[in-house]
Amino acid sequence: MFEVTVEDTFAAGHALRGYHGKCENLHGHNYRVRLALRGPQLDAIGLLLDFKDMKQILGEVAERLDHHHLNDLAPFDVLNPSAENIAKYFYDEMARRLAELKPGHSVRVASVTVWETDTTTATYTGE
Ligand SMILES: [Zn+2]
Repeated sequence: MFEVTVEDTFAAGHALRGYHGKCENLHGHNYRVRLALRGPQLDAIGLLLDFKDMKQILGEVAERLDHHHLNDLAPFDVLNPSAENIAKYFYDEMARRLAELKPGHSVRVASVTVWETDTTTATYTGE
């Protein structure tokens, strides 16, 4: 299996509902997100998927969240905007966009990792 990754960043505010502590209050993070794709087959020039394509689909979703209060944006108006839920949101969006971009391609989303701070991450793998 081959695995390739790209990263992007966005800045956003959030407030964790039901959290008893400082994170219940509105505050912001400089988020980093890493998309990992996995697949058995390379194309004719030796790529699993062009990094340019990966950066584009990741950037589209990061751009949607950038400089927003996440609690105001679906699905985080209902779902708590924790790093875990943000990782799953990116995972689902990446899977959908990848299927549109490369229908029938054997490449799959392996994982999405979200950094909320330099030392804290959440990863969703879909398994
Ligand atoms: Zn926070």
